[in-house]
Amino acid sequence: MIKNPTPRQVSLFTALFITLITFIIFFVLFWVFDGIRLNWTWIAFPFLIFLTAYYTSFYYIKNYIYRKIKVIYKTIHRHKRSPEERTAKFEMAPTIFEDVEKEVEQWADIQEKEIDKYKTWAEYRRKFVGDISHELKTPIFSIQGYLHSLIDGGLYDEEVNMSFLQKAAKNVERLYTIVEDLSAIARLESGGLVLEMQVFDIKELTQEVFEDLEMRAAEKNIKLEFKEGAGHNYRVRADRENIRQVLTNLVHNSIKYGNPNGKTKVGFYDMDKNLLVEVADNGIGIPKQHLNHVFDRFYRVDKSRSREQGGSGLGLSIVKHIIEAHKQTINVRSTPNLGSTFGFTLEKA
Ligand code: ADP
Repeated sequence: MIKNPTPRQVSLFTALFITLITFIIFFVLFWVFDGIRLNWTWIAFPFLIFLTAYYTSFYYIKNYIYRKIKVIYKTIHRHKRSPEERTAKFEMAPTIFEDVEKEVEQWADIQEKEIDKYKTWAEYRRKFVGDISHELKTPIFSIQGYLHSLIDGGLYDEEVNMSFLQKAAKNVERLYTIVEDLSAIARLESGGLVLEMQVFDIKELTQEVFEDLEMRAAEKNIKLEFKEGAGHNYRVRADRENIRQVLTNLVHNSIKYGNPNGKTKVGFYDMDKNLLVEVADNGIGIPKQHLNHVFDRFYRVDKSRSREQGGSGLGLSIVKHIIEAHKQTINVRSTPNLGSTFGFTLEKA
């Protein structure tokens, strides 16, 4: 017996079987009633029977298979067929089942990947929405608390009214920072970042960032300076405003997590086609087990310290997105109580 016969083989066996049976019946009938007289009919008759049986069974098998396969194709291709496609001849290739099986397997594969993608997105969205509401809750509760205390009489208490208002205002600022960072992340993650590449002097840009953050650094008596003897050519090709954001976030972090009277040093190192920019501080540092996560959204080593500093927990993930959009890399080295060094590369001009 043939395993997995093709439709033609099935028709062939059916036709042979029918021919044999008919032949036997006729043989018996002729023998009983007439005696056997061999003539050309004995050759033509089985041949005719065979052809008729073969083509009839093949026609019905083909139609049956076509109807079944049509349903499968309609399901997997999910499209309406054009009149030409509908009238196109249906080819009953010997490998028809293997072909359909292959196509269905490919279709199932694509479906599985799509489902996995949707699942990942659904999980990502759920986590993101959870993270956001958690982040927003803290400042909103604080503002609510201070305002209610003021309404309940605190407004007339000279000792607390001003400080409650200041604390509420500080939390409004935190809310603003979170919302700003969230819209930056949303823009970056939706692929909406269009880089405006230009050639500029990275040292000059760093100087501008130092000037913007001077006041904050002075509050902790932290010095912002360049590392001596590093690099000569500071011209890079990148999106200047986005790199300003990167430098601002890194230098700002070095102040937020730096020790009072400390130092933040920025160095530039020539690396063949790229320039390595390093922002180093001698602050609190990051324990080893957290190093791989500091670029994750809302990840904080010390939650209360970050919140106290007005951080959204999104700064480093924004930085990473921007550097990756430039097809460059960013990394961090750190030792608790010694300090941290964040380094990223830029294309040299
Ligand atoms: P945040 O708004 O909390 O500062 P970031 O994404 O900028 O968020 O940083 C994530 C976390 O990484 C911070 O909460 C902090 O714990 C840690 N971190 C970032 N920069 C430094 C640094 N220079 N020194 C020590 N820890 C840092």
